[in-house]
Amino acid sequence: MLRKSVFVYDDTLSQHSLSDTHPMKPERLRYTYELLDSYDAFAQERSVLIPPRSATEEEILQFHTRDYLNAVQGLSVGDQSVSGSPFNFGPGDNPSYRGMYEAASTSTGASLRGVEALLSDEADAAFSISGGLHHAMPGYAYGFCVFNDPVIAIQRLVKEGMKVAYVDIDCHHGDGVQHAFYDTDAVLTISLHESGAFLFPGTGFTQETGAGRGRGYAVNVPLYPYTSDDVYLWAFRETVIPVVERFRPDVLVTQLGIDSHFRDPITHLALTTQGHSAVVAEFAAMAPQKWLALGGGGYDLQAVARAWTLDYGVISGQVFADEIPESYKTAYQVDSLSDVMDLPIQQSVIDEGKAFAEDSVKAVQRLVFPSHGISLV
Ligand SMILES: [Zn+2]
Repeated sequence: MLRKSVFVYDDTLSQHSLSDTHPMKPERLRYTYELLDSYDAFAQERSVLIPPRSATEEEILQFHTRDYLNAVQGLSVGDQSVSGSPFNFGPGDNPSYRGMYEAASTSTGASLRGVEALLSDEADAAFSISGGLHHAMPGYAYGFCVFNDPVIAIQRLVKEGMKVAYVDIDCHHGDGVQHAFYDTDAVLTISLHESGAFLFPGTGFTQETGAGRGRGYAVNVPLYPYTSDDVYLWAFRETVIPVVERFRPDVLVTQLGIDSHFRDPITHLALTTQGHSAVVAEFAAMAPQKWLALGGGGYDLQAVARAWTLDYGVISGQVFADEIPESYKTAYQVDSLSDVMDLPIQQSVIDEGKAFAEDSVKAVQRLVFPSHGISLV
């Protein structure tokens, strides 16, 4: 299916640094834009670059508490009377910084701008690379995330009467989004991630399947460290595809974190950029007409740029040559969009990863499939 696409970005999204040493470096967004631009990805009518807007307070308050919003605003202008610690700000994962409110409300507004492009038929697919900040909780910052743009974007779609399937392929569990929709069947949330036994935030086990009316509408597929492309893709096909097909969403929302990359410095899965985009190709095949794609984690900066370039090619129906254009290649010393896997993984680890994925898939099929009337042959 060909989709008219918008890519939501301008340089205001890559201005704010969380701290000098923080792994979430804003230039990864600019690199992605520059790499796509070097392929002339926005030079055609069917693929349009659009700027973000800021989210309003009212929009942010759809999910976050007034106390928290006030604190983010105060800390953002250096108000000494505001204490960050009750809201989980401090040294480490969630430093507060000057301009934090503008940065967070603009990345949330960017995802809302994507939603608006879908609702107005300006586009069928939108990619908001600064979004996907899936850990933020109603009353506190969490896992590098201040405002939870996936939740706020989904809420807007639900308000318009749409049935939403959210699928999160970040290396970390999409806990904030799961939390927001845990007791409703109006939104299906699915997360594939490195198991919480090994990685932050320590949740996302197969037994977490939703509550009340939402039972069966939260799905978790934990994976073992060093899981690579083929096992990942197999687990995805065995779980995500049948459940989303039965759910029949009006719109698909995907979080495309690429911290699952084998060179990512803070996680342990072992995907390549082409493996990641093969998963995105599955989304392209299964999504209804409307598809909102969000960014997410990813801390090897050039892996982020290369993967999201491949992903946007899939989203917008463009094929980019694997060899990176000269201008970008010279500036950043990267040669190709795809990877040659240079991480030796022992056979015993591969076998453990396979067995672990099989257990997760079986558990999802046992715990979730009956809620959707899916029977196993
Ligand atoms: Zn992540």
